[in-house]
Amino acid sequence: MKTTDIMARLRAKYPGENEYLQAVQEVLESVEDVYNQHPEFEQAKIVERMVEPDRIFTFRVTWVDDKGEVQTNTGYRVQFNSAIGPYKGGLRFHKAVTPSMLKFLGFEQTFKNALTTLPMGGAKGGSDFDPVGKSNDEIMRFCQAFMLELWQCIGPDQDIPAGDVGVGGREIGYLYGMYKKLAREYNTGVLTGKGSTWGGSILRPEATGFGALYFTQNLLHKAGKDIKGCKVAISGFGNVAWGACIKATELGAKVVAISGPDGVCEIPDGITREMIDYMLVMRASNRNRVQDMSDKFPAACKFTAGKKAWSVKCDIALPCAFQNELSEDDAKELKANGCWCCCEVSNMGCQPGAIHFFQHNGIFFAPGKAVNAGGVATSGLEMTQNASHISWSGAEVDAKLHFIMDSIHEQCVKYGTQPDGTIDYVKGANIAGFMKVATAMLEQGTI
Ligand code: GLU
Repeated sequence: MKTTDIMARLRAKYPGENEYLQAVQEVLESVEDVYNQHPEFEQAKIVERMVEPDRIFTFRVTWVDDKGEVQTNTGYRVQFNSAIGPYKGGLRFHKAVTPSMLKFLGFEQTFKNALTTLPMGGAKGGSDFDPVGKSNDEIMRFCQAFMLELWQCIGPDQDIPAGDVGVGGREIGYLYGMYKKLAREYNTGVLTGKGSTWGGSILRPEATGFGALYFTQNLLHKAGKDIKGCKVAISGFGNVAWGACIKATELGAKVVAISGPDGVCEIPDGITREMIDYMLVMRASNRNRVQDMSDKFPAACKFTAGKKAWSVKCDIALPCAFQNELSEDDAKELKANGCWCCCEVSNMGCQPGAIHFFQHNGIFFAPGKAVNAGGVATSGLEMTQNASHISWSGAEVDAKLHFIMDSIHEQCVKYGTQPDGTIDYVKGANIAGFMKVATAMLEQGTI
């Protein structure tokens, strides 16, 4: 297999699908050498099959807004790969959602889910519906209309959606309510991220952020460093950033910045529990405005419009917002500001130039598919609880999550250790996930 040949073919076939092409290129570059040591993969055309989703559903979603006006959006579900388990992955509601974005996310999800050690295939879905400025009733009506189409494509042993950007516990509740009505059965295993009183796993809301910090701790430990006392800059203020703020603070780090599309809030003394709780209010308001934090806590927080979290002096950067949110220039600014570690929590949060810069300038870097896998791993634990009709305590879930993140880190070290002893976490994560999926595909024959 030659990455350049496959990429040339995909570029001609899917022009303009930039996020998808970027995600595929990163994985193929990482695995090329290992892949070519396995002629049986080449013979079965594993890579050619793996880069194509199994299927994509596209559907119209029509709903009525608060003014009584009819609105139309497009809904999608990309079922990417089911070699190691049923399709699994979140739903993203964001105005910029396109098939390319969901293909990249579904592709990434396939390898991420393989890394969790749990039997889950890869999928992603969502809509170009923009939650910003929408009322609670509008969100509910949209979710119901979306599920009216989606329910035929999903099932607890078939495809299990969850949340992602723009889809949290509230949206999962509305989606499940409609699913239950349509399917006429109380089958909680069809969605994860549910409320804890009706089949949801304790700690699922915190899991992505907690898992990211457990992974970061492992990375620092391996490098002989300690997170205690480190200054951490975080982008975003949604569910993932919220969980990361809680765990980073609990581990003795100081979160000195959070950001939003409007700018950055600098918090020199570190974020407090009260401020962390307020992030939930900000998320539920659908205003998408980080300045609300400095309006609420003016003495502790300084807002600067148009700036990113990466402009603030820190030791560790945790991108927790959106793909390609951290550019090469941002990486350079981080280094100039003293940053020496970046753990990507958002999916493909760093642009290729930024990753290259980190890796060639002695800055520790780990990719999203390893760092943020705690979210979907805890979804997998939720599926186990639903299938066995039991509920674990927070401590049990946390211990299992911690164990899974340790194991993901170990897989990265196993496949990513370079001849000079350094660890290439990008390679490590990609090869570990790829080998598992490729082997399963090979064993299941040409389908
Ligand atoms: N959207 C999350 C992710 O990117 C979670 C998916 C899930 O829980 O299924 O991994």
